[in-house]
Order: sequence, then C-alpha cells, then structure tokens
Amino acid sequence: MSTNESHPVRTCVGCRQRAAKQDLLRVVAQDGVLAPDPAGRSPGRGAYLHRSTACLDLALRRRAFTRALRAQAALDPHRLTEHVEQVEIRKTVRTD
Ligand SMILES: [Zn+2]
Repeated sequence: MSTNESHPVRTCVGCRQRAAKQDLLRVVAQDGVLAPDPAGRSPGRGAYLHRSTACLDLALRRRAFTRALRAQAALDPHRLTEHVEQVEIRKTVRTD
C-alpha cells in the first residue's frame, strides 16, 4: 500500500490562498518574460497562481512575481496575461 499519493499544496501569489498544486498555474521567468508553465516542467524557480485574471492582477500590482522568482528587474507579463485570459474565457464559455 502506497501512501506516496500526497496532495501538494501551494500558495497563490495573487490572493495568497493555499490551494492544491494542480489547481494552480506554475509561472516561470524566461529572459525577463513571465511565462506560463502548465506542465510544471520548466527548470528554475516557479510561482503559483490561480488561473484567474483577478489573482493575476493582484500579483502584478504587488510585484509578487518579481519577488517570488527573485527577478532582478521587472518582468514582462504579456504572455502570462494572454494565457490566463484565454483560460478564463474557456471557463466562462463552458459555464452556463
Ligand atoms: Zn489566487
């Protein structure tokens, strides 16, 4: 009997709520750009965020990514913003 099936928990850098790792999007910094890492396979430091524009907005306003990823300079959020907006649109369409 394996008890290795744990449920890792991470903190969202936006709303600061703890959530199951699988419910959060991993975000990494690549060449000064915030990049979504849905597969969670990119090397280096990762920050975790709900797939929500509200959480993304909070995180950007607090410069939470810069801190969490130990970035030396401001990170370009455009790729991440696009990704989260697309996910949110899909969710909205699916919901009745
Ligand atoms: Zn959140």
